[in-house]
Amino acid sequence: MSEDVNPFESMQEQIDDAAAYLDIAPGMLARLKHPERVLETTLAVELDDGSVETFQAYRSQFNGDRGPYKGGVRYHPGVNRDEVKALSGWMVYKCAAVDIPFGGGKGGIAIDPADYSAAELERVTRAYTEELRPLIGTDRDIPAPDVNTGQREMNWMKDTYESLEHTTEPGVVTGKAVESGGSEGRVEATGRSVSLVAREAFAYRGGDVADATVAVQGYGNAGWVAANLLGEMGATVVAVSDSSGAIHDPEGLEPEAVKRHKRDTGSVAGFEGTDTWTNRDLLTADVDLLVPAALENAVDADIAADVSAAIIVEAANGPLTPDADAVLEGEDVLVVPDILANAGGVTVSYFEWVQNRQRFGWTEQRVVDELERVITDAFDELVETFEARGLSTFREAMYVVALERVRRAAEQSGVWP
Ligand code: NAD
Repeated sequence: MSEDVNPFESMQEQIDDAAAYLDIAPGMLARLKHPERVLETTLAVELDDGSVETFQAYRSQFNGDRGPYKGGVRYHPGVNRDEVKALSGWMVYKCAAVDIPFGGGKGGIAIDPADYSAAELERVTRAYTEELRPLIGTDRDIPAPDVNTGQREMNWMKDTYESLEHTTEPGVVTGKAVESGGSEGRVEATGRSVSLVAREAFAYRGGDVADATVAVQGYGNAGWVAANLLGEMGATVVAVSDSSGAIHDPEGLEPEAVKRHKRDTGSVAGFEGTDTWTNRDLLTADVDLLVPAALENAVDADIAADVSAAIIVEAANGPLTPDADAVLEGEDVLVVPDILANAGGVTVSYFEWVQNRQRFGWTEQRVVDELERVITDAFDELVETFEARGLSTFREAMYVVALERVRRAAEQSGVWP
C-alpha cells in the first residue's frame, strides 16, 4: 500500500489522460479538475466524560453542472483535505459515467469511530450536519454513507437537518434506513454493481464469472456484499480481508458465515478452517478476479507487478495508483474502474432521492432491475468507446465518456462573468 501517493493528484491525472482524447480548452479543463469549494471546519464536541475534543471535518463540492453535489461522508483517521477533494472529483465522473443527474461532492471527519461511544458519535454527526446545513439540501448537496458510516449516521443527519430547518426533507441525505425514507436495495447496491460488472467483464473476455476464483480486500459494506453476490453467481471466493488481516480457504469461503464471524468478533481473522494471510498475499493471490474494496492506494506498482488475477474490479474508490495502472496495462490485466464498478451505490442513492421527491417507494425488485439496466448500459458504452477510439484501458474509456458529458454541461452553463 502506498501512503505517499496523493489521491487528488491521481484523480487529476486520470482526467488528464482522458482529456487527451477530447477537445477541451485549457481553462475549461482546469475548471473540471478542481473543486468549486471546500469547507474545512473544526468540530468541538463534548465527550461522555464531560471533556471537549475537536475534530477536523470537510465537505468538498467539486462540480454541480449536471445536478446537485452528491457523495458520501467518511469517518476515518486518515481523512484529510486532499483525500476529500479527490473523492468528490471521482463522484462527478462516476455520476456522469452512469448518466445520473448529479454533480459530485464528498465529506469526511478525521476520526476513528471505534474510539467513541454511540452517543459521542451522534454528537459528532449532529455537529457536522449543523456546519453543513447552509450547503446541503435536496436540490443542493446530498450526503450519503461511505467508510465507517451507514444508515445510523444518515438518520442522524436527516433528523438534525430537518429539526434545524423545521421541515421534513428526507431527500437531504441518502442511504437512510427504509423506515426513515431509505430505499429498498440501497445497502446492497454498491456490491451489486461490483458483481454485475464482474459478470460483464468475464463475458467480455469470453469467460464466465461462475467459473472464477475471487479475492476480496475489505469486508465492509462494499466488499462483503460483492463477495456474497459473486458467490450467488457461482464464483468461488477463496480469500477476504479486513483491516485486521486476511483469511484464505482454497475450497471457498461461505460469505454469509464470514460476515457473521466478523459481526461477532469484529474481524474476519480467525474464521474457522482458514489460513491466515497478509494483505499482500491476498492482493497477489492466484485467483481469476481481484476485488479491492477497502481504501485508495491499496495496490501500488510494486504489488501490481505480482498481481496474478486476470481481472480487477475496483469496488473501492481509487484503490490502484497511476503507477500500478501502468504496470497492469503492460500485463494485460483488465481493470474495471471504480467510477463504474462501485456506481451502484450512487445509482440507488439517486433512486432513493427520486422516491423521496415523489414520496412514493419502489419495490426491491424494481430497484434491482433499474440498477442492472443502468450499470449494464454504462458497461456497454464503456466497451463501445474503448473499441471505437482504440483506447488502451477501460479506465480511459470510462473517463472519456464521463468527462465529455461533464464538459458539455459545463460549457452549456458557461462561466459567470
Ligand atoms: P466500510 O467501512 O463498510 O468497510 C471498509 C472495509 O475495509 C472494512 O472491512 C475495513 O476493515 C477494511 N479495511 C480498511 N483498511 C484496510 C486494509 N488496509 N486492508 C484490508 N482491509 C481494510 O466501507 P465501505 O462503504 O465498504 O467502503 C469501502 C470502499 O468502497 C471505499 O473506498 C468507499 O469509498 C467505496 N465505496 C463505498 C460505497 C458505499 O455505498 N458504501 C459506494 C461507493 C464506493
